[in-house]
Amino acid sequence: MPAVQTALVIGGGIAGPVTATALAIAGIDAAIYEARPSDPASANGIGGSLALEPNGLAALRIVGADDRVRAAGIPITRSLMSITSKPGREMPTPQGLPPRQLIDRGSLHSILRERARQSGVRIHNAKKLIRVDEHVDGVTAHFADGSSASGDVLIGADGVHSAVRRLIDPDAPGARYLGLLGFEGLVDDGPDTADLEPGTMTFAFGRRAYYLYWKRPDGRIGWGANLPSPQHLSLKEARAVAAEDWQRTLRGAYADDIPGARLAAETTGDTLQAVGGLHIMPPVPHWHRGRMVLVGDAVHAPSNSTGQGASLAMESAIQLARCLRDLPDVAPAFTAYERLRRPRVVKIAERGARISHAKAPGPVAQRMMRLLLPLMVKTMNLEKTMGAEQRYIIDWDADVQEDASALA
Ligand SMILES: Cc1cc2nc3c(=O)[nH]c(=O)nc-3n(C[C@H](O)[C@H](O)[C@H](O)COP(=O)(O)OP(=O)(O)OC[C@H]3O[C@@H](n4cnc5c(N)ncnc54)[C@H](O)[C@@H]3O)c2cc1C
Repeated sequence: MPAVQTALVIGGGIAGPVTATALAIAGIDAAIYEARPSDPASANGIGGSLALEPNGLAALRIVGADDRVRAAGIPITRSLMSITSKPGREMPTPQGLPPRQLIDRGSLHSILRERARQSGVRIHNAKKLIRVDEHVDGVTAHFADGSSASGDVLIGADGVHSAVRRLIDPDAPGARYLGLLGFEGLVDDGPDTADLEPGTMTFAFGRRAYYLYWKRPDGRIGWGANLPSPQHLSLKEARAVAAEDWQRTLRGAYADDIPGARLAAETTGDTLQAVGGLHIMPPVPHWHRGRMVLVGDAVHAPSNSTGQGASLAMESAIQLARCLRDLPDVAPAFTAYERLRRPRVVKIAERGARISHAKAPGPVAQRMMRLLLPLMVKTMNLEKTMGAEQRYIIDWDADVQEDASALA
């Protein structure tokens, strides 16, 4: 029987429901406490799309959610890179892996929450964690509505601006703003995208800003913009700006790009979604303390350029549940979890930092990047970088106590 019987999971985004479901499968009673007032598929969700890599889908298989994600997603079967409107060049991908899946964030949240509930996890909305009392044999979480809950451990799956991270270590670093604001839009097909097959995604380095676009099975074009902006805006602040103002800004930023100019021009206020500032997490010195531990973006948010944030969150969720299942006490379980995860997430974060630099560099660096990026892709050891990231599969049935890398 696991040393831990009950877990409080703070945050019901991606890492939270996957962790709670994996814990339930491992025989640990888990409840999720989410600050948002209702399930995120509703209008207050942050919206936009997410690409899940084969390693993320492999992690979801363990909690029985991968098929549902595939059924709701768009398989991305081809990737191109385009620099300053030149025709997209084929981007190599590791061979023999299933395609990444692009899924609406609200749909993903719904699938993960439904799966958690089916596994016996209780989900409490409108529970914003504000304080924690630690006892010798447990933790009590206090919420903004005056209620509280107690458990053997508390898991901070509360995202890049994590409150649990500061409760573990008041000196923990905060999220770093990348100098980019995120947007997503949807337009009809046009002459400049007509040749693309559904399932093709193009990563485009425009004259002034980076963007990406993909053809959907219905023929329409989804696109995401990374707009350089020295001023940081939260999701709420970005949404408070009138859609027409954002439309004007995006039209200016992509005016000289093909098809960026058309994508920006044809995006209407109805389909434009602002997602606010993009962040990364610098290395977090303390992943856990006492009976509290971090998972997902709260402890390792790589740049969105890696396409790995959500997939890594899912992997960490599974590994944390395995450690709590197999190790005799909380401290060795958290230590093993960090050992299993830290080297991998650090490596991926470092790759992401290099790409992010290419998205918002100064004018001189931008010219250099245009010259160097194709060369970087051409000379990249694909199997060593992307292969290692995407082929990662967790052996859920293997006992962590027999895994040397966890116990070293
Ligand atoms: C524009 C954009 C595009 C992205 N694209 C991709 C992509 O294509 N592929 C990819 O893999 N990743 C992508 N990411 C990264 C991805 O969104 C994150 O890595 C992922 O959401 C991390 O999941 P999480 O559960 O750790 O955190 P979150 O999804 O942020 O969930 C945290 C949850 O905790 C809740 N919470 C916060 N504070 C409290 C509190 N005090 N009490 C209770 N609850 C609280 C929040 O409301 C939220 O529901 C993108 C990110 C952005 C911003």
